[in-house]
Amino acid sequence: MPFRSPDGAGVEGDQIALGTKRTESFWNRKIILGSTPTIKGVSRIEKSWSESDQRRFHVACPHCGHAQVLKWQNLHWKRDVDEAGKTIAHHPETAHFVCEAKGCVIEEHDKPAMVDAGAWVAGAPSKGHAGFHIWAAYSLFPNAAWRYLVEEFLRVHKDPSLLQTFVNLVLGETWDEPAERVDTNSLLNRAETYDALTLPQGAVVVTAGVDVQDDRLEIQVIAWGAGEESWPCLYEVLHGDPAQPKVWDELDGILNETFQSDNGQRLKIRAACIDTGGHHGERVYAFCKTRRMRRVFPIKGVQGPRPVWPKRASRGKANETLFAIGVDTAKDAIYGRLRIQKPGPGYVHFPADDAFNDDYFAQLTVERVLTRYRQGRPYRVWDCPKGKRNEALDTFVYALAALKSLPIRFDRKLVEAQTVDDQDPDIDDDENSDVVREVHKAPPVYIDTVVQRKSRLVRRTSRSNYMR
Ligand SMILES: [Zn+2]
Repeated sequence: MPFRSPDGAGVEGDQIALGTKRTESFWNRKIILGSTPTIKGVSRIEKSWSESDQRRFHVACPHCGHAQVLKWQNLHWKRDVDEAGKTIAHHPETAHFVCEAKGCVIEEHDKPAMVDAGAWVAGAPSKGHAGFHIWAAYSLFPNAAWRYLVEEFLRVHKDPSLLQTFVNLVLGETWDEPAERVDTNSLLNRAETYDALTLPQGAVVVTAGVDVQDDRLEIQVIAWGAGEESWPCLYEVLHGDPAQPKVWDELDGILNETFQSDNGQRLKIRAACIDTGGHHGERVYAFCKTRRMRRVFPIKGVQGPRPVWPKRASRGKANETLFAIGVDTAKDAIYGRLRIQKPGPGYVHFPADDAFNDDYFAQLTVERVLTRYRQGRPYRVWDCPKGKRNEALDTFVYALAALKSLPIRFDRKLVEAQTVDDQDPDIDDDENSDVVREVHKAPPVYIDTVVQRKSRLVRRTSRSNYMR
């Protein structure tokens, strides 16, 4: 039986992938954590769910075609009972759903086709945000086969706290989507006529974020103004093996570049964050170690509620100095700002430059919010769908973290009299050496004096008038 899709078919594939991935991800983890979800935590999710349009995933019975939601109470399995009717043995390998319309037997092997043809159906009028509810029974992940759900249930059902966890994690979580999606086209259409050498006067600080992949580095450079209004102005992919010095030399070249506003003010990169998360962490540490004075920081993205820039450094595996970046907090900020429609505080400008193309915007807007649990408490995390690239977003996050590492605040009043502190950040675990510092007394604005030299930026401007 065909279903009406809730609001056009376009997003549905994503939603199914999201739900499936979600169930996979908690089956990949060990689901029973032995913790008891707090009632408060659960009720917070419930409240959010009750305020959403409450979408559930409907599938058709392969026999009678009746559209329905798979429910735990309709998951049956064979049991052996004694004369008194007491269950003496369970047979989870016989797990199957019973069709709620006609009692048809729905088998595990029916699942892929059912899920493939299924659809999200809203259970309540739209109140501004979409809520999705799905649970492990829909997962195509082998570990989430129905017999294993039953086995897990049988393992935990006598322990109230374990059962509670099972109910929350296996039988369903809800997650929210931002009320508005960021519209990629509207971002593409921003294409303004500035570049790295003709930044507007309002841009007073420049930072960079660098992502390290196995065959390349990607760097994004962003200029910032009052209220963290931003002008991404350079995006480069440096192809090459990060185990070799070549890409690092190229990166160093960019980090040493001088950027320029259209009134001639010269701006150097004040801080940069380089991800240590890939296979080349040691290279990153080595590169950053000799550039600490230039505020080139080795960082690691950490999910969950935490500040974008940490209060103090942490230590890597080999006792290296490392900065743990609150990536979810940063993404909240960035996605919120991408929805701002008018230039001013928070607004993100984009240049008419072919590096800022469809692919860039697809990467920038690819992530979605999920709700996960830690010790029974729900928290939001940003998630990149499997197989999708997100370097444009990651490098934006790192450039924002680099900005937050600076001991300055610059709102409109401060711009003229603000300075940056060039001191090396303290990295002790000492309470007094927090990397985030208060604004220092304000000498005049710092303008770099630079020796004119051949710059890759000059070369780039020849193609940066590209208009769509
Ligand atoms: Zn049926």
